Amino acid sequence: MRHKIKGIVIREAPKGETSKLLTVLTNNLGVITVNAKGVRKISSAYLKSAQLFAFSDMLLYEKNGFFTLTEASLVADFYPIREDIKNYSLASYLCEATSAFAVRGEESAKLLRLLLNSLYAIENNVAPLVQIKAAFELRLCAESGFLPETDCCADCGDDITDVNFLFHIIDGIALCRNCASVGGEYTEVTSSVGKAITHITQSDMSRFLSFRIGDNDTALLSLIAERFLLSHAERGFKTLSFYKHCQELP
Ligand SMILES: [Zn+2]
Repeated sequence: MRHKIKGIVIREAPKGETSKLLTVLTNNLGVITVNAKGVRKISSAYLKSAQLFAFSDMLLYEKNGFFTLTEASLVADFYPIREDIKNYSLASYLCEATSAFAVRGEESAKLLRLLLNSLYAIENNVAPLVQIKAAFELRLCAESGFLPETDCCADCGDDITDVNFLFHIIDGIALCRNCASVGGEYTEVTSSVGKAITHITQSDMSRFLSFRIGDNDTALLSLIAERFLLSHAERGFKTLSFYKHCQELP
């Protein structure tokens, strides 16, 4: 069976002398493994499409659940990301995180678009890395069915958009000050961070990075986003440790 897809390479591994096994996030098949024969030969026509972060139109042949690359036309390679270790480490983490949430065989155009928009933002310095990371983590969770609730109190229903509130990071629910006190699993969240979370998770995908908050609020947003994602992924990420290591480099 033949498939015409759009896909980005989110992991690559050598196979045999000249081939690669690619992990590809697609628009319509979720995350799949693709056998790319001969793409490590310098003469290969599909060399550039078979590299990490390469986004291409692809023709695949499927037999018994295994996919083989038959044609590829490169759309974007995000190559400049590789030239900065901090950018590279974040992009690698975004790829690994996406692979943890995308399901094989399922429609995944939104996750693909989220990853492409985020890689574009990294490549073009659209926002600080810490902001791209946090926004990506929250939007990835939201698109995967884990939507943090920051508009109203989960207990009394009061509107909390303009006030500080208490947020349960793991459950993604908020309580107003009358319904809870600081401590335990609840973290105090400023109204500006609450608004940022609402914007990130509910705005049009083309605008999810278009918000500005102060440094203290960015640190809080960053902590919330990472813990929220890790609790739903139910696993750790090697690339996240690598990203943190790289951010400490001069
Ligand atoms: Zn309340």
